[in-house]
Amino acid sequence: METILTIKNLNKIFNKRVHAVKNVSFEIYKGNVYGILGPNGSGKSTTLGIVLNVVNKTSGEYQWFNGDLETHDALKKVGAIIERPNFYPYMTAEENLKLVCKIKGISYTKAQEKLELVGLIERKDSKFRTFSLGMKQRLAIASALLNDPEILILDEPTNGLDPQGIRQIRDLIKLIASQGTTILLASHLLDEVEKVCSHVVVLRHGEMLYQGSVDSMLSSEGFFELKSENNIVLKQTLFKHNAVDTIKEEEEKLIVYLKENLEAKELNQYLFENGIILQHLVKRKNSLEEQFLELTNNK
Ligand code: ADP
Ligand code: MG
Repeated sequence: METILTIKNLNKIFNKRVHAVKNVSFEIYKGNVYGILGPNGSGKSTTLGIVLNVVNKTSGEYQWFNGDLETHDALKKVGAIIERPNFYPYMTAEENLKLVCKIKGISYTKAQEKLELVGLIERKDSKFRTFSLGMKQRLAIASALLNDPEILILDEPTNGLDPQGIRQIRDLIKLIASQGTTILLASHLLDEVEKVCSHVVVLRHGEMLYQGSVDSMLSSEGFFELKSENNIVLKQTLFKHNAVDTIKEEEEKLIVYLKENLEAKELNQYLFENGIILQHLVKRKNSLEEQFLELTNNK
């Protein structure tokens, strides 16, 4: 798999006190859609700012395209929108894009192509100031794609949009991804990441809590809630079972997380054969939302 970006033990401390990014490491491979998910203030924008060379890192490393290019040249193959879209208000959509083409030395034909892609071709002669926020955002995406970058980076791409605008942007991101462009987006919205991304990095207070595919997060094996007369013996017996990952004590119950599938019936039988009679047994499956809340709140 082709590596687009490698981040290793990245740290950012603002003003010697705010530890905004803590030892974050992850890799981005070509063709996937990555989400950096975390509540406000968790370090998403700072992480993006560092790899885009607009925020200075405190320590750690990052490397674009296996380090084959200097950061300056590598960033020419990166399209990014990290601020509110800003174009000339009295110029049309097409004029604005052509200006970008001119500045970057790109053929003007790209303006037309990208306006079509983002669904703004019919509005190409409208002035930027007449655009809704959603249209402005789509124009910004068109602009970022003019030079056919390897990766598109978006920071909170649907912030402030109405439901229709949100849907259009999400559909557009999926369309762009389906054409082979790698995508990295930051979002505080779990359902956005769930709907749009194939992979997720979860941040909280700058710390990476989870990294992996959205699917494997969704298809997590779930957990049991168990209770018996003697939870100490219960716990010891559970740990001997191959499917058991970790055990958490909660009030009178044991919360048993699994590393592989295990049916309630099988577990009950196993415990019974080991002399344990349960007073309580429930199997539950975390929704991504529950997992996210768990990851971000209870740690
Ligand atoms: P997110 O994008 O996840 O909302 P940020 O990366 O913007 O989070 O911020 C992470 C932390 O770093 C926050 O505590 C924020 O206040 C702090 N921070 C961000 N930028 C600066 C800055 N320029 N100076 C000082 N602190 C900052
Ligand atoms: Mg942010």
